Amino acid sequence: MKATIITIGDEILIGQILDTNSRYISRSLNAHGIVVAERTSIGDNRTQIVATLDRALSQSEVIIITGGLGPTKDDITKHTLCQYFGSTLRYDEVEAEHIRSMLAARGIAFNELNRGQALVPECCTVLHNAHGTAPGMWFEREGKVVVSLPGVPFEMQHLIDEEVMPRLQERFALREIVHRTMITFGIAESILAEKISAWEEALPDHLHLAYLPAPNVVRLRLSAYEVEGAKVREEIERQFESLHSIIPDNIAGFEGASVEELVHNTLRQRGATLAVAESCTGGAIASKFTAQAGASAYFLCGVVSYSNEAKRDVLNVPMSDIEHHGAVSEQVAIAMARGVKGVSGADFAISTTGIAGPTGGSAEKPVGTVWIGIATPKNSFAVCRNCGTDRSQIISRATAYAISMLYDELKKP
Ligand code: ATP
Ligand code: MG
Repeated sequence: MKATIITIGDEILIGQILDTNSRYISRSLNAHGIVVAERTSIGDNRTQIVATLDRALSQSEVIIITGGLGPTKDDITKHTLCQYFGSTLRYDEVEAEHIRSMLAARGIAFNELNRGQALVPECCTVLHNAHGTAPGMWFEREGKVVVSLPGVPFEMQHLIDEEVMPRLQERFALREIVHRTMITFGIAESILAEKISAWEEALPDHLHLAYLPAPNVVRLRLSAYEVEGAKVREEIERQFESLHSIIPDNIAGFEGASVEELVHNTLRQRGATLAVAESCTGGAIASKFTAQAGASAYFLCGVVSYSNEAKRDVLNVPMSDIEHHGAVSEQVAIAMARGVKGVSGADFAISTTGIAGPTGGSAEKPVGTVWIGIATPKNSFAVCRNCGTDRSQIISRATAYAISMLYDELKKP
């Protein structure tokens, strides 16, 4: 069973808003065993809507459209669909009453434009929108289903969950789509691919492998489409199990668990505490932890010590280390980690000092050079990483490296 998602709205095309509706609908369709063949965003334009719908109907059994159902002149989806299905508009008393009462609750008078919202094509099934004034519409033609929903995300979501999915399940015999994602870290994508190539070769045809790289993390996703779910889930479990012997030191967990979540959980379980001293990452590491509920149990402090003086005055980094080795150096990274650990009394500390660019690099220390320091109850050390060429990439990679270095330390007995 294939689906096409069409999102309508000039605001998507000019980049004013992000098309989050497609993502929500994709997830929901996947969860119900429907394969999304294509997602398209188009303008509030009659010709475009018709052409896109023609194409969608030639490849998919289910087409979901959002947007362009408002009362204003720029919203033309409903009239276009009505014409497309050779229908005429009728005035729906129930919808009119609903619109009138929704507006009354907000102290707005029911006007001609709102009257227009209660008009629905004769040939469609009206999907009642309890959270808004534009009803959804369900059309059928030659065994295929076309659904039109309002663009407002929460209205669309309620309609998908409460009206569209139950009807699709009733209308079609759906199978299952299974995705499971393993998170690996500390191994580059190309090296990982080389190491697991024999395993990959031996995968059965119905299991599809995808590599999803992020800074210092590569997610491995196995997917199976339109299958018997329980059996395939077990099979995927076995496949991932066999990866444990191939890359035993690089598996951080499964979907939903990022490396920072694993560190968060480990510190909480152990009752250990953490402090962070950041230069080039500017607080990015601290925010990865403080974004997680419950961080106050272990996160003591984060210092953004950007200037040499701040490194000296706040973290007790010896000025002689900075003068002899430079602020971006092994000695300073270690002194920063030890410094913040000492100042805060934390059990573990992370530090970063590097050149995020675009200026400030040299032949010896090019842009992207980052020293990451770790201090534990037992020892302290620093590692130099090249974190790339683009400022935001350097910050996010250094952040990821630093957190996975701490995770490595925490995993040690
Ligand atoms: P309404 O009846 O409330 O006017 P509508 O169907 O006409 O709904 P639009 O006018 O297209 O919807 O959009 C309404 C709001 O929903 C806008 O604020 C828009 O930013 C948001 N929106 C529209 N399409 C999307 C989308 N694909 N993803 C995220 N938000 C969207
Ligand atoms: Mg619109």
